[in-house]
Amino acid sequence: MKNSKISELDVEKVAEFLELPPSKISELIEKGNLKRNWDEYYDIYRFQGHAPQMEDGTVLIDHHGSFELVRGFPKIKRAMLLEPAILKNFKEIPSVVVEEKMNGYNVRVIEFRGKLIAFTRSGHVCPYSTERVQNFLEPDFFREHPDLVVYGEMAGPENPYVQKDAYGIESLDFFVFDIRHKDTGEALPVNQRREIAENYGFNQVRLFGDFSIKSASSKITEIIRDLGKEGREGVVIKDQAMVLQPVKYTCSESNCSDLRQAFKFYNEAGRDYLYSRVIREGFQSHEWNENEDEFTQRCLRLGESILRPMKKTIEEVESGDRISDDFRIRVKDREIIFKFRDYLDRFGLYVALEKIERIGDEYVAEIRKVNKSTNDKTLAMLEGQLWS
Ligand code: ATP
Ligand code: MG
Repeated sequence: MKNSKISELDVEKVAEFLELPPSKISELIEKGNLKRNWDEYYDIYRFQGHAPQMEDGTVLIDHHGSFELVRGFPKIKRAMLLEPAILKNFKEIPSVVVEEKMNGYNVRVIEFRGKLIAFTRSGHVCPYSTERVQNFLEPDFFREHPDLVVYGEMAGPENPYVQKDAYGIESLDFFVFDIRHKDTGEALPVNQRREIAENYGFNQVRLFGDFSIKSASSKITEIIRDLGKEGREGVVIKDQAMVLQPVKYTCSESNCSDLRQAFKFYNEAGRDYLYSRVIREGFQSHEWNENEDEFTQRCLRLGESILRPMKKTIEEVESGDRISDDFRIRVKDREIIFKFRDYLDRFGLYVALEKIERIGDEYVAEIRKVNKSTNDKTLAMLEGQLWS
């Protein structure tokens, strides 16, 4: 079985296309680092974990005669202190472009067999994002630029992963932040990307401006304070030419909002995820030279974002309720709701469809994900079990 699967993909040809030895390709398949999709996406493969010279989530499409590569989205490093990070990382250029960092999930779009498809960061074809993206992007772009990929953030409240009301969106929308060449992953310069996106009527992430290296950190500090008050996430600082690597920076309120969500499900949250958000607060407080009052407010904000949701979880479990992650999705094709549920199932995310309602020409599904680990742990503590 295993061998016949390997032979379905012509290892020699893939190796030639990727300029790697055939033994390397076989090894990637054997070790599960080059995985194939399912159903109508059977000819789409993704690299996961240690793809050679490629970002995780890079996709390989087998057109049976030729191959196509769609590079994954590269990691964006974070500034802990704005000023030194900008001076150090952008020292070769006179100014930086600042765009809003939207808080949703990363999606990459191409055309595949006459239809737009949306990949998640890991290179899976997400049925919900794929259905939604048909409404968001002009397909002409993809016919006219078959060698380009559009990267953007799916943001808004009707979102399976990150629900945010801060954007004034009722459901979900797609905000373009990058256009890259499929095979090399080389990004278009910011100006050119924004102009093309504008011409095709794509929604884009907000552009704050182009700031000299010297003035950038104080400008960004002001922007970050305002974004924080609006419940938005932060900024990505970019080289206009997109040659130097972008750098991200986020608002304290957004870090705290992540912590609130994470501590509600305290036994599910990754330790690194929690810890890194606490560290950010220390550096920002230092860089902003806060007075005692401002510092006390930050301490309260941070402490409350950790303790309040946890305490609420304990109270809820004690009262006999079970905590859960509830979200809504909206689709035109009812079948997608079930396809999406099966898709989550594959990752071991078992969700319950609570209700499906027809609203206009769309269907809205209410979905509940019960967080078993946090519920069980809390119950155990309430019953007197010891932490470990
Ligand atoms: P990374 O591996 O890139 O650090 P992460 O999963 O830790 O990603 P984030 O901290 O959210 O994610 O930061 C990077 C992500 O920010 C990108 O993958 C992209 O989805 C998102 N993003 C939102 N707005 C922008 C923007 N304007 N420019 C670039 N990326 C953006
Ligand atoms: Mg994000």
